[in-house]
Amino acid sequence: MWRLVVLGPPGSGKSTQADQLCDQLGLAHLSTGELLRDEVARGTPVGLEAKEYMNKGLLVPANLVNHMVWVKLAAMGDRGFILDGYPRNINQADSLDATLLDLAMRLDAVVLVDIPEETAVERLGARLMCQDCRAIHRESALPAGAMTCPSCGGALIKRDDDKPEVIRERFRVYYSSIMPVLERFRGQGLLLEVDGRGMPDEVYQRLTSALVDKTGKVFA
Ligand code: AMP
Repeated sequence: MWRLVVLGPPGSGKSTQADQLCDQLGLAHLSTGELLRDEVARGTPVGLEAKEYMNKGLLVPANLVNHMVWVKLAAMGDRGFILDGYPRNINQADSLDATLLDLAMRLDAVVLVDIPEETAVERLGARLMCQDCRAIHRESALPAGAMTCPSCGGALIKRDDDKPEVIRERFRVYYSSIMPVLERFRGQGLLLEVDGRGMPDEVYQRLTSALVDKTGKVFA
């Protein structure tokens, strides 16, 4: 059983890595970005409030996100999980500490999938998301002009927050808030830094062997 956090700048591919890890290890994937997009798509009160911030590339207010995570973790029981994209600032890290204490849970590791800013801007500018299954596709990996999802046939769209001006703002926000969070996890001996450049499979190899080295756990 694994309890992990996966962090990384926008475009680092952290969610793709988290997906693959969840499939292989049978873990629940708790992506705060995905949970928030779901609230927005369903037009819930949380979604209506969150949308204003997300469309500008800003962090959604802490109370909304912290509560959402508490509810999800409390329902997890003995099932392992990956928290993807949370905590993003020191307030959220404090809240996560309190939640884990409350639920008598411990993290095994915090994985940082890191890439340089130029790589991220390039990747994000060239990706499309399926409106139905939410899969992310690189434009270069699709037939020229393709507008439908190769997995499910849904319409491909550009995420509102993958527009160039919003990408830049997401970067600014990410770096200004994540540093103290990384310091905290480094101090706790939990942080594992993985180079996120290259193809997803190469990154996954790097990530899984680093995880085994760090935790000494069997990976199956
Ligand atoms: P992501 O899918 O992780 O890139 O997140 C997309 C957007 O959702 C972010 O730009 C934020 O607006 C919002 N978001 C996701 N996770 C969080 C979080 N932990 N705290 C606040 N806002 C978040």
